Amino acid sequence: MDFVCSFTTHAIQSTISVVTKNYKKPTFIFSCIAFLGATYVLSPTVLAFGSSLKVDNQVKSCKRPDKYTTGFTNTANDCFANSTVQALVPLKRLNKYFAAMIEYPLPQSIVRYPMPLHLALIDTLDKLKKPVYTNTSMSIWKLLHLLETIHQGKISRAQHDAHELLLLLIDTLEDEYLKFFSFISRLDDKAKKMVTKPPQFPFSSVIESKLRCMRCKETSVPVKNPMMMLELTTPQSSNASLETIITRNNSEVIEGFSCFVCTIKHMIFTQDSLDLTPDQKSFLQYLQDRLAGRKLVINDELSEHQVYKAIIASNLSLQHENLKAIVHRQTDFVKLPKIIPIHLSRSVYEDSQSWRNACTIEFPPTLEFTSKESLGPVTYTLRSVIRHKGTHSSGHYECYRKKPQFYKTLEGYYLNDTPAIVVRNDWPSPIQSDRAVQNQEVIGRKHKKLVSVIQKPYWRISDTKVTEVSENSVLADGKAAYMLLYERL
Ligand SMILES: [Zn+2]
Repeated sequence: MDFVCSFTTHAIQSTISVVTKNYKKPTFIFSCIAFLGATYVLSPTVLAFGSSLKVDNQVKSCKRPDKYTTGFTNTANDCFANSTVQALVPLKRLNKYFAAMIEYPLPQSIVRYPMPLHLALIDTLDKLKKPVYTNTSMSIWKLLHLLETIHQGKISRAQHDAHELLLLLIDTLEDEYLKFFSFISRLDDKAKKMVTKPPQFPFSSVIESKLRCMRCKETSVPVKNPMMMLELTTPQSSNASLETIITRNNSEVIEGFSCFVCTIKHMIFTQDSLDLTPDQKSFLQYLQDRLAGRKLVINDELSEHQVYKAIIASNLSLQHENLKAIVHRQTDFVKLPKIIPIHLSRSVYEDSQSWRNACTIEFPPTLEFTSKESLGPVTYTLRSVIRHKGTHSSGHYECYRKKPQFYKTLEGYYLNDTPAIVVRNDWPSPIQSDRAVQNQEVIGRKHKKLVSVIQKPYWRISDTKVTEVSENSVLADGKAAYMLLYERL
């Protein structure tokens, strides 16, 4: 049996296949305990310049804390996973969410759900955040093996896709989040009021789609759906701006739609020529009254009514293609996410062939989204980009990761804008996250940002190879851009 991890709609084979049905629970528990051994609190990472890191004389090293960062080794086509996890590091909203989950005051009687992926990611991201002064690397496989254990499957070393892995990570995190807070639904109303509000899952948003018929101008019932990632198809042109693709994606024209209102209007107009039983006539009268009261929508559930279906079946004139309408589908956010991953789908499938669309996407450093909830546009800022170079079936992934803000002080360097969630042995106990945030603000006002962070605010990370790059060179890489991670300011 295959555990198909098929997030894309076409021929991409499964990333995960089942190892065995007789999956051994102790392994899973062992992994959880390994991560649970560490406990976490939020605090600013303050560095003393030239700290106790051992630097091999043979290895190049640098006094600046922003020249290097920890990379991942690539032993077997690991670049898809390496780039995906690197892309999560600069997300401050994810960091805040993790801290809120760790700090969440559970009622005493509730058994804490262990959240293995949460703890594993906190641990991995924390290691990647720590400043290093020379080429440093680690393996992604501790994290991937945990994912395999959670899903009782095996991550394929042949087929891989950064987009699928990010979806799998988000999906698994959400599953743990829901399990963690499932106790709330079991409480009585009085106890529910006493419970601290859960933090918002940072990738979670709600979109609403509404159809409008271009002929009768009537609309559909709005349909709400949860969304974790903005999936965009890149146009088959040489270049396009991200904003244009988003606008087009949110405003779609659909041809050949069977509009219920248009059909009813046509029935009423031509009813003398229709072959109707007395029951059908009275049903049509009922529909006419509802139409007069503007109580019908273009995808009305009455279109599933037996009598309506019988009228259509027995009258060929009502099945004519000319009755089909063009509708406009408008999709809007109802609830905005904290983090919005954007997938630029570059796969083109035609006549059982597939290839990579190399359209250059012009993407901005900041994006604005609006929702029904927000009073005005909400600004999102770019934190990381996953690039893919190669063909549809093979290639190499790299990650552009925004550096943290380093400030120079008399004593040394401060890393301040992605507070590390660091180990503490007396968890759970009062957390000092407010102080951490205050410290960041004070540091920002008092000290000067490193020039190298201003000039080259991104790292380009290709497995273990790390280079510093300017924002312009990131934004100019629109031909290779595959995933863009923006977060709310
Ligand atoms: Zn219509």
